[in-house]
Amino acid sequence: MLLIRCPHCGPRNQDEFAYGGDATVKRPADPASASDSEWHAYIYVRDNPRGPHEELWHHAAGCRRWIRVRRDTLSHRILATGPVHGPLAEEEGR
Ligand SMILES: [Zn+2]
Repeated sequence: MLLIRCPHCGPRNQDEFAYGGDATVKRPADPASASDSEWHAYIYVRDNPRGPHEELWHHAAGCRRWIRVRRDTLSHRILATGPVHGPLAEEEGR
């Protein structure tokens, strides 16, 4: 069983969460003047990292808030979690 520590609710079963995608993607700073290729990259282009990666997760069956999770894509270990725009707290004992 994979536990994800929600910064608002505490450790919860992964079943309560929905994966929300790459947390490192940035929306174009000036949407009105962004080119088609900038929009294409923002919407469709993703890295496929091997190792630690920051992701967005939705606590759908809990507080219904979005959180940020640093997960090792190789081992699936959760390394740190936190609010979307706040600091991440490292998992203890990892
Ligand atoms: Zn929560």
